[in-house]
Amino acid sequence: MSPFLEASPLVQARGLSRIYSAGGWFSAAPPVAAVGKVDLAVERGEMLAIVGESGCGKSTLGRLLLGLEPASTGEVRFEGRSLRGLPAREQRALRARMQLVFQNPMAALDPRLPVGIQVVEPLAIHRSLAAGANRPAIEQLFSAVGLSVELAGRFPHQLSGGQRQRVVIARALATQPDFVVFDEPVSALDVSVQAQIIALIRGLQRERGFAGVFISHDLRVVRHIADRVAVMYLGRIVEEGPVASVLAAPAHPYTQALVASVPRLKRAPGGARLRLKGDPPSASAIPPGCAFHPRCAAAEAVCRGERPALHATAPGRSSACHFSALRKPAAPPFESMRL
Ligand code: ADP
Ligand code: MG
Repeated sequence: MSPFLEASPLVQARGLSRIYSAGGWFSAAPPVAAVGKVDLAVERGEMLAIVGESGCGKSTLGRLLLGLEPASTGEVRFEGRSLRGLPAREQRALRARMQLVFQNPMAALDPRLPVGIQVVEPLAIHRSLAAGANRPAIEQLFSAVGLSVELAGRFPHQLSGGQRQRVVIARALATQPDFVVFDEPVSALDVSVQAQIIALIRGLQRERGFAGVFISHDLRVVRHIADRVAVMYLGRIVEEGPVASVLAAPAHPYTQALVASVPRLKRAPGGARLRLKGDPPSASAIPPGCAFHPRCAAAEAVCRGERPALHATAPGRSSACHFSALRKPAAPPFESMRL
């Protein structure tokens, strides 16, 4: 392997965009820019969180990174090689090394099959494992995710929500992937179960060393699971950096509002819950200039006319605000906000 390839991140996106053109019933509707010009890198063994409000493009970005849907512009590289135009055989091999765990385990599992069989399905697909050889693999995978192997004969509806998500995680790990995208994997679970699944994912990641992207709308979850965080707003990354540093001192006004909205992360002035002002954003009508400017009380003329690029504000930190590097507001410039 050349030094260049060795030095390249495990997963790298360059200028990655996804535009959905509205069709069918809504053919008069404008196209939706779900993801716009995203550059990001995931290093081996690290967990990158992607946070932002519903509809900001997190799931689309996750699918793009896995090559599960085509990019409108830009590209994704895995170990330095573009996913675009790979021969089918290499695509299949790569599929096994990149996995997706999403929010709803009921939708991910086949209701008619015992969960044990489903956990080793990727092995049968990817490695043509003989049927009789499944038992040790099922035992090993169930044990890795803290499930009793006695549950292997059950059907999905006979398990709890937390157990089902453990099954889905076990299945994603069956092929020993190098890269896993977790798309809001705990959002549908009770709070008490959420903490267990987060601890499980963190433990598995440390043990097995895979790299991950953890998608969430909840900063509290992100703090416990990720090394770095990328904050998205209307399809673009507006801030990125080590999770502890970003949460302690957010540079972008949008991140400041998100942080301020979580009482335990940072108490809002006067103890009030903060809320962003203005209308909720729509990916089919992205404001010109800085897309966040209509909701930002600190916006000035330049913000309405010029889109700020994501730029370094400190070592390892970047922000896409015209004023990030120049000033820090004394208090978040928002009335209040609820996620
Ligand atoms: P998030 O996961 O952050 O909630 P999504 O990636 O699901 O956001 O969606 C981003 C935007 O793209 C939304 O406006 C959504 O309606 C739109 N979108 C997502 N998938 C499609 C699709 N297949 N066709 C058309 N629009 C889509
Ligand atoms: Mg989503």
